[in-house]
Amino acid sequence: MKYQSLWALNPEEDIRKLEKDLDVDVLIIGGGITGLTTLYFLRNSNLKVALVEANTIGSGSSGYTTGKISYVQELVYQKLNKMYDFETAKKYLDSQLAARDMLLDIIKKENIACDLEKVDYYLGARNDKDILKVEKEGQLLKKMGIEVKDIQLGKHSVLVVKDIYVFHIMKYLRALKKIGNKNIYEKTKIIKLQKEDYGYLVESASNKIKAKKVIVTCHYPFFLKPYWMPFKVRCEKSYIAASKSKKQKWSMNTSDGMYSARYQQDYMINLLGSYYISNKLNERENYQVVTKFNKELGLRPDYLWQNDDMMSVDGMPYIGKMEKDNDKLLIATGYNTWGMTNGTLAGYVLSEMVMGRTTDYDRLFDPLRVSFYRHGKELLLNSFLNMQGFIISKIKGKHRCPHMGCSLIYNPVSNTWDCPCHASKFSREGKWVKGPSDKDMDV
Ligand SMILES: Cc1cc2nc3c(=O)[nH]c(=O)nc-3n(C[C@H](O)[C@H](O)[C@H](O)COP(=O)(O)OP(=O)(O)OC[C@H]3O[C@@H](n4cnc5c(N)ncnc54)[C@H](O)[C@@H]3O)c2cc1C
Repeated sequence: MKYQSLWALNPEEDIRKLEKDLDVDVLIIGGGITGLTTLYFLRNSNLKVALVEANTIGSGSSGYTTGKISYVQELVYQKLNKMYDFETAKKYLDSQLAARDMLLDIIKKENIACDLEKVDYYLGARNDKDILKVEKEGQLLKKMGIEVKDIQLGKHSVLVVKDIYVFHIMKYLRALKKIGNKNIYEKTKIIKLQKEDYGYLVESASNKIKAKKVIVTCHYPFFLKPYWMPFKVRCEKSYIAASKSKKQKWSMNTSDGMYSARYQQDYMINLLGSYYISNKLNERENYQVVTKFNKELGLRPDYLWQNDDMMSVDGMPYIGKMEKDNDKLLIATGYNTWGMTNGTLAGYVLSEMVMGRTTDYDRLFDPLRVSFYRHGKELLLNSFLNMQGFIISKIKGKHRCPHMGCSLIYNPVSNTWDCPCHASKFSREGKWVKGPSDKDMDV
């Protein structure tokens, strides 16, 4: 059994670091699905574009995903219908269908062999109180024109929808890397961003990049004043196992996001849990829970891994400007564990924005839409959880994380020091491994 993602992240091929200063129209920071898709959509523009990635492409959340391409996303449509209105819920559905089709188009057009498969998709309830909510989500989906079947599993009603896909994310990202290769610099971590008349002066440890526009696709911003992001998002984590199993053509999620499953060739992939990043800090125990659960299903995990994602206040991503009058600094984050569609969509929206064009989704996903009037409860919850994370880290942790001063907890599974606030990781010796910290650990 290996503690690593099934998508075999690290055949470190064709790694090219930035070894000179650059002057570009657009700099993309981050080589996950969002950054690489943005670069893809800009490939034929006459803009000079570069993408920098701190580690290797896919080494962030993207390379640890379960890789489902789905427009059914827990109970998001009910949430949007309640928080906004039916039109907003419908518009979000349209965006997810459009994103799915864009992804399929890229795969087809570029002839990418990434184990793409169409599957039946089940949305179920994990407990009695969620049964009604699942039924209601089904009714809303039907009202929005989606074909939904209800089937009865015991006393639980389960929704079945079609035209959902699964794929091998790293095969897909490696193909995008090949297409954009000459403009991609890996092992190039950005540590400084400074506003200038022409745009931004961006610095790695050894080089400077002048960029007219900067697109931040690094999951969580690395800079210290991230424009209210600590209130607008919270980080949640889950644990995943892949075990040898007879292949089947279905995929599923529970409505609370606590459990999901899919198949990848002869592996069954199970996801368990969805916890705020500073809860459940005992990693050994967390993995034992997943292993035990799989054993109960008669499975023996071959791969075990963990992933985290940013949750927004309303279930929709933040894509666009970070400040009202500044179209030179754009961001995409807050995918609520649905980054395959939202990362693709962000690539499209951001690329159109830097080319001076608008899309149907600019307003819907505007990061500045968050208001205390409409999202007060969520903003307070995020502030509370972030504060709680900080305090817990101080009680339980050792060594200070250079990012925002939380304390680090030792993770005996990966032999890393982990930040329970924003998911930075450092090696046992204190070297930065991943996450928003711009420095090695203070030892
Ligand atoms: C358990 C789990 C399961 C999931 N399953 C699904 C699923 O089935 N379907 C789905 O649609 N979504 C899923 N997601 C969500 C999805 O994985 C993410 O939303 C998506 O991968 C985020 O992509 P990204 O490109 O925004 O970020 P990332 O993939 O994290 O990419 C950001 C990149 O930026 C780099 N970076 C960071 N800081 C710097 C810096 N200072 N300089 C340079 N580079 C930097 C990082 O190294 C990283 O490679 C899941 C999430 C979780 C937590």
